[in-house]
Amino acid sequence: MKKTGFRFNYLRRNITNMNELLISTPKNIVMSGIRPTGFLHLGNYFGAIRNYVKMQNEFECYFMVADLHSLTTHPDTKELKQNVYRVVAENIACGLDPDKASFYCQSHVRETSELYLYLNMLAYMGELEKTVTFKDKARQNPDNINAGLLTYPVLQAADILLHRAGYIPVGKDQEQHLEMARTFANRFNRRYANIFPEPKAFNYNVELVKVPSLDGTGKMSKSENQAATLYLADDDITIRKKVMKAKTDNGPTEKNTVMPDYIENIFALMKLVCSSDKIEKYTADFNNATIRYGDLKKELGEDMVNFIAPIRLRAKDLLGDEKKLKEIMEQGAEKANKSAKATMVAVREAMGLNY
Ligand code: AMP
Repeated sequence: MKKTGFRFNYLRRNITNMNELLISTPKNIVMSGIRPTGFLHLGNYFGAIRNYVKMQNEFECYFMVADLHSLTTHPDTKELKQNVYRVVAENIACGLDPDKASFYCQSHVRETSELYLYLNMLAYMGELEKTVTFKDKARQNPDNINAGLLTYPVLQAADILLHRAGYIPVGKDQEQHLEMARTFANRFNRRYANIFPEPKAFNYNVELVKVPSLDGTGKMSKSENQAATLYLADDDITIRKKVMKAKTDNGPTEKNTVMPDYIENIFALMKLVCSSDKIEKYTADFNNATIRYGDLKKELGEDMVNFIAPIRLRAKDLLGDEKKLKEIMEQGAEKANKSAKATMVAVREAMGLNY
């Protein structure tokens, strides 16, 4: 007991220094990341990047290419460099501005690994094993259920807490991980000192976005179900083909019937890129049982082409300029390292690791 009291006083003394250290930290810091495990797709755009592009004008933003996370499922690093550069190029092509946001590569900020280690001592096996994404990935890769996969949410919490970020623009699939980041932050705050704000999912729309796959099963993804995912690098012909293959049926035979899930998904995709007039027309056609899915898919395909093609072309240009992409990452890492170092001085002090 005595020892605890001593420790408490000891921490209180240091909190004064910490407040001095962190006092200048502005509110509403934003952090998010994308793994370099393949080509970016519409889900990445609407679930994450679209918000990055808006938020960079309003907040202090840290966006990163999560190369360390990718090692949990992709231990072969032959294509890693190319994938890192592709994620950088595609984000910039979508409008991310490296002069406004800090855009860096996770492994270039070494403090990430240090905070990950400390947070691992605050994460329990039971809660990690229950994570839905862990269970899914363990099922998909039974030969590589490594400890990094289990502690994936801890690494994610480290990325976020390293910048003391409060707003996290992510898709709906990340809700549980964010809940865990809040748990780890609160555990740290209670055990050592109140350093971390509670990170919250952020989306300009009230609802978090899930972009469904074209075949009505699950969501668009970098590595799974590629034929039913629209990638930002897909050419016009591929986009049209994929959309035309989207799952539909012969249409309703009666007026005002309930929409099947896979048709709802197609309407959800229309809402991302089509005009409201078009959506209203096809909704009315469905309700009147006069809808022609072939026409709908043709129009959706064209709107997807118009949306994706300019991004693809910009990304292609950037990918040819490796020097520039490297400079962008270095510029981002410089800013991210500054923020990470300040947090870690406070973390080490709070934990008593300052001898
Ligand atoms: P990942 O592709 O898992 O590295 O995720 C990068 C970001 O894209 C995260 O914020 C995800 O929530 C988001 N994301 C990935 N797939 C989708 C999807 N199909 N719909 C909405 N957001 C998504």
